[in-house]
Amino acid sequence: MSRQVLVLNAGYEPLSLVSVRRAVVLLLREKAELIEATQQMLYSASHAIPIPLVIRLVHYVKLPHRRVPPTRVAIMLRDLHICQYCGDTPGRHDLTVDHVIPRSRGGGHSWQNLVTACKRCNQKKGSHTPDEAMMHLFRKPFEPSYVALVLLSNPVAAERWEQLMGAGKERLSVAA
Ligand SMILES: [Zn+2]
Repeated sequence: MSRQVLVLNAGYEPLSLVSVRRAVVLLLREKAELIEATQQMLYSASHAIPIPLVIRLVHYVKLPHRRVPPTRVAIMLRDLHICQYCGDTPGRHDLTVDHVIPRSRGGGHSWQNLVTACKRCNQKKGSHTPDEAMMHLFRKPFEPSYVALVLLSNPVAAERWEQLMGAGKERLSVAA
């Protein structure tokens, strides 16, 4: 059993990882609500609660904004190692970073213009814009928060986050 619980901010963006004990304290004090739990129960003298996997803070915590450069590793973390054109997940060694608007066409090296693409899609797109190549992005590229990237580099947090995203929960946002 994993011993870390993913904590989401009130706005559903990932905030941190805490121990099960700490998460239970937050739940019992009604500082957080349960989003996802295991099938197992925890018993105390007065309570029986499921072991939490993901909790959400009731009140929004404001974090200082720290900017992260759009490196290859960071872009792939943001995109969960998924090709943003075809949805393929060939593994990081077969993924590339694509300039949505090609550099030769004035596209910049920014979070908004860089996406994860499989080699096949990158080749197919070449020096075209998505419209010209008729290849459309799954989602608009955005600048993630520092905290989101730190969390996404943690496999436990990343997996849970991906599951929540996969469930079509548009409410989850890592925008800064
Ligand atoms: Zn692809």
